[in-house]
Amino acid sequence: MFATSTMTRKRTKQRPQVGRLGKHLTRRSRGRCELCDRRDEVRPFELWPFPEEPDPERTLMACSRCRRWMEQERIDPVEAHFLGSAVWSELPPVRLAAARLLLTREDLDDPWLADALDAADVDPGTGEFR
Ligand SMILES: [Zn+2]
Repeated sequence: MFATSTMTRKRTKQRPQVGRLGKHLTRRSRGRCELCDRRDEVRPFELWPFPEEPDPERTLMACSRCRRWMEQERIDPVEAHFLGSAVWSELPPVRLAAARLLLTREDLDDPWLADALDAADVDPGTGEFR
């Protein structure tokens, strides 16, 4: 139902300059993954397309598992239930990251998924905010 081919070739490789946001993001996240609340190896993760300068509105703090999912564009649906709350985050990069992870699922006809993408305000065709 949804065209995801435009999303799958995007770069997810992280840039060293994202480290400039470290302090700001650590304060915002209080050292926790902004998607799932874990504290496991939490680091900044920039969302494509990368702006010239790293932007906290396009970057989130994520744990090792969530970063791996974003890099590989694959999630474990059993573990991924927390994405259903992350799409309601007040932080745009968290909503966007959660929506993009949900879009990696194969069962895109699931009405729950359409509702989650609506909550995040993300267009399934482009993987960007509407
Ligand atoms: Zn996480």
